[in-house]
Amino acid sequence: MNNACFAWSVVAALYPVERNAERESSYPHYTTVLNLQGIEFPMSMKNIAKFERLNDISINVFGTEEQNKKINVLPLRLTDEKKAKHANLLYVQDAQNNNVGHFTWIKNLSRLVSSQINKQNGQKYICDRCLHYFYTKEKLEAHTVDCQQLNNCAIVLPNEEDKWLSFSNYNRKERMPFVVYADLECVLQKTEEDDPKLYQRHQVFSIAYYV
Ligand SMILES: [Zn+2]
Repeated sequence: MNNACFAWSVVAALYPVERNAERESSYPHYTTVLNLQGIEFPMSMKNIAKFERLNDISINVFGTEEQNKKINVLPLRLTDEKKAKHANLLYVQDAQNNNVGHFTWIKNLSRLVSSQINKQNGQKYICDRCLHYFYTKEKLEAHTVDCQQLNNCAIVLPNEEDKWLSFSNYNRKERMPFVVYADLECVLQKTEEDDPKLYQRHQVFSIAYYV
């Protein structure tokens, strides 16, 4: 395994080849086509934004998790702004060592995620940010506008090393004159929308609060 797999997968996305796609010799060497000033390998998720700026490219990174013996694909890192030059990469953790990971170019995102979406007939149009899918190109395009503005739609799941959410900046706390605890109750209303993951809407029917 090569520590520069991130760079090689970006090159594979920018210079796609028909034959011998698995060979490094089929591509220009990454040092000749990428600006890697101040970038160290193995690539960290944090440094991807820097790489994007240096190379005027946008990068989305997806990962996999196993659930009920099925492999699910989920977004790990999404670009702020999609550029003309864009690459979707898959990050695969080493089975033995969780700190070691490998990047590879996702040539066909729909094919990769199709195993996790239901087997309804007809072509699906997949959003390469949040992986929601639609049955028409127009619906995907309308969604893409909204999705672009919601930079928080990435789902990052906690892992064994990083599973606690805590607050440590006690010095930033402020005394408040009052506190309100509030709770809403909702009825779930079935929806008829195209997105199969969205099947209910919350309709508020009561609210309670304590001051
Ligand atoms: Zn989306």
